Amino acid sequence: MERVPVLVIGGGYAGLSAATLLAWREVPVMLVERHPSTSVQPKAFGAGPRAVELLRPVQGLEEELTEVGAGAGEDLRIAIARDLTDPEPHLLLDGEWEHLALAGLTPAATVRAPQADIERVLRVKAEELGADLRFSTELISLEQDDGGVTALIRDKDGDHLVRAEYVVAADGHHSPLRHALDVPTSGKGELGRMCSIMFDADLSDLVREREVTLWYLRNDTFTGALVTGAGAGAHVLGVHHSEGESTADFTHERCVELVRLATGRPELDVRILDRTTFGIAHLLADTYQVGRVFFAGDAAHTMPPTGGQGGSAALQDGADLAWRLWLVLTGQAGPEFMDTYDAERRPIGALTADAQLAELGRRMPPAARVGYPEPLEDPLNALFGHRYHSTAILDEPGDDGSILENPRQGGGRPGSRAPHLVLDWDGQHISTIDLFGSGFVLMAAKQGGQTWMDAGRVVKERLGVHLTRLPVDDELLDVEGRFAEQYGVSGGGAVLVRPDGYVAWRAARAELDAVEALERALRAILSR
Ligand SMILES: Cc1cc2nc3c(=O)[nH]c(=O)nc-3n(C[C@H](O)[C@H](O)[C@H](O)COP(=O)(O)OP(=O)(O)OC[C@H]3O[C@@H](n4cnc5c(N)ncnc54)[C@H](O)[C@@H]3O)c2cc1C
Repeated sequence: MERVPVLVIGGGYAGLSAATLLAWREVPVMLVERHPSTSVQPKAFGAGPRAVELLRPVQGLEEELTEVGAGAGEDLRIAIARDLTDPEPHLLLDGEWEHLALAGLTPAATVRAPQADIERVLRVKAEELGADLRFSTELISLEQDDGGVTALIRDKDGDHLVRAEYVVAADGHHSPLRHALDVPTSGKGELGRMCSIMFDADLSDLVREREVTLWYLRNDTFTGALVTGAGAGAHVLGVHHSEGESTADFTHERCVELVRLATGRPELDVRILDRTTFGIAHLLADTYQVGRVFFAGDAAHTMPPTGGQGGSAALQDGADLAWRLWLVLTGQAGPEFMDTYDAERRPIGALTADAQLAELGRRMPPAARVGYPEPLEDPLNALFGHRYHSTAILDEPGDDGSILENPRQGGGRPGSRAPHLVLDWDGQHISTIDLFGSGFVLMAAKQGGQTWMDAGRVVKERLGVHLTRLPVDDELLDVEGRFAEQYGVSGGGAVLVRPDGYVAWRAARAELDAVEALERALRAILSR
């Protein structure tokens, strides 16, 4: 029987990000994916900046992702039109807002590339880092006991047993594992089914200089959505299934006809490359954890594509599991630490799925919107304003327990993403975000900073925790002089940031016994 600390089921966004970041942390990981390769269809368009923040500590990865997105336009623009010949499309979303909204919040940018391209980059990176990725390999069943998980996997050579300490269930919307483990789900359920038709056609004269990525097309003969320039010269047309239809009903001739209706070019030369059916659903697993199995991505939360966060949420879940598993498997955290994954990520999964559902309602004709939630007041909050609450965060007295905040007003509260600030390191400008990713980071301002740094050294050795000590305005210069105020440590305090860039604990002012305060905090955070 083969043995591996972490077995990942599914080679989509969630599975690949978990495998890449586990391998980067030198945790041996095996991933099984039943298809022979990563996605063929372009699927979700783009990976959001928060997902990129979590992936960018892996050397070279951000550059490689940016490169695959280089062919796409600068901004994501969404328009409603009659067909592609419509001279006056109505612009529903001008992606420029994102640039403006994100200015000063992050050094990362959205990667404007189709999911299929991003998955390919992640696959190569994960393999380079030593992850054992097995395609054409399926999980058949698994059993758990106190010591681990025994999984039966099937590949071209037959059936094999694999023994793992933990399993990442990144097996998608229909999640066979979620069913096998009897995990109940909540939400509106499946709202419809769409056939996704991937095709090649020369649309350049129709889309040139309009730089719209996603078109909602409605006319007397056609209703659907078209993503133009979805990578490798392909475009993707999404068309709703009628009652009782399946992919087989979308014959080659019908697909060609649909593309011609959508584009408004009855003579268009069309080459159909692929077609598949996917469900538009609003569905949440009632728990993200069953023993040693952790659900991530669509297996944990399936959301309508409106708002474009489904793919990014999957990348974030995978990344999130990677650092938590690393802490537990290396003995830095106790096994109960893994419970914090469900406590922190499930409320955010629900919030994101509800926001996408609301956005779906907003894009529907008014009469059909009944029963849909109201859109979020500020979509920026859902990108960077998530707040976590669990035993891995030491809330301050008076914390309102909110799971959403305005990231521009967060101010370094425990449970919030640590703010981006510009620092000078040996003449080079870097972001505070560049400091996070590998282990914990203890930061303190100049006033009282040395005491905290000394305490950090003692506690790091005593607990065997990967902790970097960063005295601001010593090795790192606070270029704009905002650190103490932005992180809320003006009174000689310190802040402890987790590997995911979230503030775990903060001492607002100097402590009489800094060693005791820091050690108590870290033991609580790490379930030790
Ligand atoms: C055609 C299409 C278009 C989409 N468009 C958008 C969009 O525009 N915006 C958006 O936000 N989202 C979109 N989505 C959804 C988005 O792609 C998903 O949110 C994202 O892929 C979730 O990633 P994941 O890793 O959780 O799951 P998936 O990408 O579904 O990956 C799960 C993987 O698990 C594998 N698997 C399942 N069971 C087993 C098993 N037993 N053994 C081995 N492997 C197994 C599957 O083969 C699959 O590859 C689209 C999806 C599709 C299909």
